[in-house]
Amino acid sequence: MASLHGGHSGEFCNHATGALREVIESAIAKGFSTYGISEHVPRHGEQYLYPDERERGWTLEKIISDFEHYAVAVFALADEYAERITILRGYEIEIIPHDSYPKIMLDYRKRFGFDYMIGSVHYLDDISIDSTVEEFDQVLEIRGGIEPLARGYYASVSKMIEDLHPEVVGHLDLVRKNGHLYGPLDTPAIRSAAGATLEVVKANDCILDLNTAGWRKGLDFPYPAPWLLQRAHAMGIPFCFGDDSHGPDLVGAGIPEAREYLLQNGVDKVTVLKRTGNDVHREVIALR
Ligand SMILES: [Zn+2]
Ligand SMILES: [Zn+2]
Repeated sequence: MASLHGGHSGEFCNHATGALREVIESAIAKGFSTYGISEHVPRHGEQYLYPDERERGWTLEKIISDFEHYAVAVFALADEYAERITILRGYEIEIIPHDSYPKIMLDYRKRFGFDYMIGSVHYLDDISIDSTVEEFDQVLEIRGGIEPLARGYYASVSKMIEDLHPEVVGHLDLVRKNGHLYGPLDTPAIRSAAGATLEVVKANDCILDLNTAGWRKGLDFPYPAPWLLQRAHAMGIPFCFGDDSHGPDLVGAGIPEAREYLLQNGVDKVTVLKRTGNDVHREVIALR
């Protein structure tokens, strides 16, 4: 069993719990052979600090320093546990600040030599679409409705992929998290925008994250929704599992259900990243 997106820990993330070592111990106990750790990069700008980070007196310097410590820790722990599990040493990017993120994100990769990157879009117009409804409302106002917002979201995913060439695209239809409150996210115009993004996913040879957090956020389906998953699959785009765990107890959460979900939608294999030393390669694993 393998998950490529997750392993956030309270040690390095304000909205996760537990220590990174506990996350890895939990992955071993739950029978993972490969477990991808993809901590969030720092959000480069004081304006992006989360309210609870501000309450705790955290600063941009603090979250940058935490991430630097994370990068050292994940390499050390991967070595320490190498006999028992393959830990992939990764990170999850942000597309903020919207006009300067590519260099910042690629520099982190160069500096630390991460195995891979999760390409995710949590922001639109420099405002989080992944947090509160109030922030989502601000973006709705700027974009002029849910349909243009969703189309703008997919355009941002496409641009991110072209800018960064991530190995894995995280929670492809995250816009559903808050967006489902405002209207359908599978209208012809939105499907067409998402379809254009799938062309970019395909052209850049990315793996899509079958991300189980959608269920935990109260959505009817994980990310991506069935129509989008089926369309990607028809194009030959591969999938991986992502538990998007934010603590040791969430390691592996939803993966058995996600396996069923893939099979129900006609997908009978997943692609995993494997690492030998510093060499990362892909392997295809049958689901039955
Ligand atoms: Zn998170
Ligand atoms: Zn994410």
